[in-house]
Amino acid sequence: MAEIVIEKVTKRFEKFTAVDAVDIKFRSGEVSCLLGSSGCGKTTLMRMIAGLETPTSGRILIDGRDVTALATKHRNIGMVFQYPVMYQTLTVRENILEPLRRQKLDKAERERRVDQMLELLDMRDLANSYIDGLDAGQSQKVAVGREVARQTAVILLDEPTTNVELNAKIQLIRAFKEITRELKQTIIYVTHDQTEAMTLADHIALMQDGNIVQYDEPHELYSHPTTTFGGWFLGNPGMNFLPAERSGDGLAAPLLAQPLPVPADLPAEGELRIGVRPEQIRLASAAEAGTVTGKLLERSINIAGRYLLKVQLGTSGVTVKMPGRYDGAPGDDVHLAVKPADVAVFADGKRVG
Ligand code: ATP
Repeated sequence: MAEIVIEKVTKRFEKFTAVDAVDIKFRSGEVSCLLGSSGCGKTTLMRMIAGLETPTSGRILIDGRDVTALATKHRNIGMVFQYPVMYQTLTVRENILEPLRRQKLDKAERERRVDQMLELLDMRDLANSYIDGLDAGQSQKVAVGREVARQTAVILLDEPTTNVELNAKIQLIRAFKEITRELKQTIIYVTHDQTEAMTLADHIALMQDGNIVQYDEPHELYSHPTTTFGGWFLGNPGMNFLPAERSGDGLAAPLLAQPLPVPADLPAEGELRIGVRPEQIRLASAAEAGTVTGKLLERSINIAGRYLLKVQLGTSGVTVKMPGRYDGAPGDDVHLAVKPADVAVFADGKRVG
């Protein structure tokens, strides 16, 4: 097990800053996902931890040791990439065994580790199959097993499921969870897929433009985003944002039947918005106390079979995710309600209160 500490790490490629003064501690023995959209700096940060890229400034410590200038092979890490290089003409067992031979482990220990991996990966039946006969998901499982079996303190994975079809991907993630539960290595897992990150991670580091905007447990990241970016990025669809303004002692916004109490730390200046998750907006059957009325613009069904309603509220639009069926039609009046506890307040994109 090893804690990974990133201290003010910046990486510039000529004038472009790919990673911008990142400070973070990845906890020992946990799976941390680096999550963010394409180009936000995930891979660059991971490559610096691996020693494949040198920081322009800052320090990287693994288990208290400054590894910033250390070569990859001295960092005690394993890596799995999107397209791992496998020994196509060796069997699954031999592929896992080969790096252990190079580690000069005795035969009994090598065999024990290979058997353990085959068990954890649920691949005993394929132990003697050749890699070139496997599908992409199975082959990627072997790549994971091969690195994990070396029992390095840290394992880095860069989008390992990108080229794997959905069923195999689910299997791979399941196997991966099993492995991490058993072996407790410190794992950094790069992905742009929020479902994957939510399923796998103990903590998620959400990245935007070379910065880590939030490092939290998945549930916390979803329910308490500290930025509008986090609220928008997580969720399908993401959080609704509506303009808000001070009104006497309160904060008024189109979705609120009553103004909210003003949070104590609300800055005097700045653009104010409220944020509400689509599933936290309730549809009332009539215009009762606590509701606001808007017009239904569109009704659709999302991937999970839930109805999504687009509603016009004055000059703003909101999306509502329904728990069940909805039979209304565009043009209908709809009555919406939210609980004050489900409303987040943001000033200039940062959460307050
Ligand atoms: P993706 O999922 O698309 O790989 P990412 O979040 O992993 O995205 P990075 O690969 O870290 O992003 O890249 C961050 C930015 O740095 C991108 O704009 C990329 O073009 C740039 N970049 C990365 N490596 C280099 C390099 N060697 N030279 C110049 N620019 C680079």
